[in-house]
Amino acid sequence: MKKQNTFLRLAVPVLLCGILIAGCRLSGSRSGFTREERRILFEQDSILYVTVVTDPSDSLILRTPCADLSDKMLKSKDFRLFSEKLKATVQAPWEDGVGIAAPQVGISRSVICVQRFDKEGEPFEVYPNIRIDSLFGAVTLSTEGCLSVPDLRGYVPRREGAVISYTDPETLTRVSETVRDFTAVIFQHECDHLDGILYTDRADSVFFSERSAAERMYYDSLGYYVKPSVLIR
Ligand SMILES: [Zn+2]
Repeated sequence: MKKQNTFLRLAVPVLLCGILIAGCRLSGSRSGFTREERRILFEQDSILYVTVVTDPSDSLILRTPCADLSDKMLKSKDFRLFSEKLKATVQAPWEDGVGIAAPQVGISRSVICVQRFDKEGEPFEVYPNIRIDSLFGAVTLSTEGCLSVPDLRGYVPRREGAVISYTDPETLTRVSETVRDFTAVIFQHECDHLDGILYTDRADSVFFSERSAAERMYYDSLGYYVKPSVLIR
């Protein structure tokens, strides 16, 4: 190897460092969310596009198991925005859901939002790094639909109750809770999403819902289901 002159000996490492730093900025952020995840959160309005199984690239996201959020991510402003947008999306008139999981907005992270029918005021709450630790009680058939499975409903065997645990984003400690009845069904449905499982995988039978199809057609005509460029891969 030939000897390099002084300029090259200094300039090359500096240039390489610059490229490395620029690369880090492109692939990640201070909050820990990836550049693509931040684009999904920041390049859409308060209500996010919901992925559907009828779209091949959406379907891939829906079938991908999710990763946990780090403490840094949970403490970030990005996570607070993520929580707000999940709540707004599940409550949008054209979605009208009782629960939503992060893959349904294109983000493969272990976060769900559930309407707590067992609490006063039936609030929507967000649960990061959630697990179902155990299930108990009888198995009954629940009638389920999913924001990501348009026009269908199904009869799904679910257990009566569940012991769940999740990370409290304020204290960063694990919290354990027991839920029952319809609330437990919602938790089971949403936690399945985090493993890439849809209710149709577990259903005894599925059927076409005319009402759901008519509603979707109506809102589609108003342009509410257009996939944003940030999610076109
Ligand atoms: Zn669902």
